[in-house]
Amino acid sequence: MIAAATLALACAAPAPAQDPHPAFTVGTATAQRGQKAYGVLRVPPGSDAGYDIPVVVIHGARPGPVLAVASGAHGTEYASIIAVEMLIDSVKPDDVAGTLILLPLINVPSFERLTPHVNPTDNKSMNRYYPGSPGGTQTDRASYVITKEVVERCDHLIDLHGGDLDENLRPYSYWTVTGNQKQDDFSREMVLAFGLDHIIISADRPKDPAASRFLENTASTRGKPSFTAEAGRSGPVDVTDAARLSAGVKNVMAHLKMGGSVAAPVRNPIWVEKIVTLAADRDGMFQPTVDRDAHVAKGARIGVVTDYLSRPLQDVTAPEDGIIMFIRAVPSLKKGDTMANIGVVKAAR
Ligand SMILES: [Zn+2]
Repeated sequence: MIAAATLALACAAPAPAQDPHPAFTVGTATAQRGQKAYGVLRVPPGSDAGYDIPVVVIHGARPGPVLAVASGAHGTEYASIIAVEMLIDSVKPDDVAGTLILLPLINVPSFERLTPHVNPTDNKSMNRYYPGSPGGTQTDRASYVITKEVVERCDHLIDLHGGDLDENLRPYSYWTVTGNQKQDDFSREMVLAFGLDHIIISADRPKDPAASRFLENTASTRGKPSFTAEAGRSGPVDVTDAARLSAGVKNVMAHLKMGGSVAAPVRNPIWVEKIVTLAADRDGMFQPTVDRDAHVAKGARIGVVTDYLSRPLQDVTAPEDGIIMFIRAVPSLKKGDTMANIGVVKAAR
């Protein structure tokens, strides 16, 4: 009798499994399972104007992780923006297990007014004011909306950047060390899967989720393995740079078992353990004497500063041995501007 009852139970048609997430909504974009939806995140008006941040939700045909990919916090880092546009066009919901949230252009005012580094509405960098605040200026409110609608709802986040209008940059990723071994191992594997072979180790980012400053850090301090990657430089879109970022995201999706296949992860990356920033201590004209990616020795000349009549004011030299991660791409130089970022390579131990 027992055997018969068990058999009957086994033969009964299983109830169809209920999809716990038949739809996924971000802002005005609602995607049903297996669909791609277009919409906006509304940043409400406050002490200054509100605006809309464009968003696409790709709710894959099968369940899986939620991956958010953002770019355009600096709205003139064009290659990274185009990389996300490429993802919007090329990722098919039928091929995806999980959900992709794509924010190609966070800083719309910067894009529209060709303003590097900041949001021209309030003159704030849009990657320094997280987790944001509903009562602050436009950048604070936009950061708050992104924290609530995107960061708190995703499992992982990739923030894409690149050389801004005045930065001649070689591609690299950042790997953030939070101190949580399991999370750091996970994010390290994501960075290696992404595929850029120069990786900056960020060990000094804020640990407080209420004062996270950066977008990636807002996700990382909330326990979500995440990272930042940069490619592209100085205005014109090099399609190769955009494609590297786009392909990198697809590699990470495959690594997370969201679909597709992983290209070979980076095996022997160059780990950069420190960034030395050379800031101008006077106004002038800057002329680089090395290109991006140059390997320079301590004391080597990397550029010169002249006055507006070509009279030399300063030889700019490397304070340490390292790699030129980016160097100023334009002559305009005001006191405090960055002339170069030099990556100091982690010694083999
Ligand atoms: Zn940026």
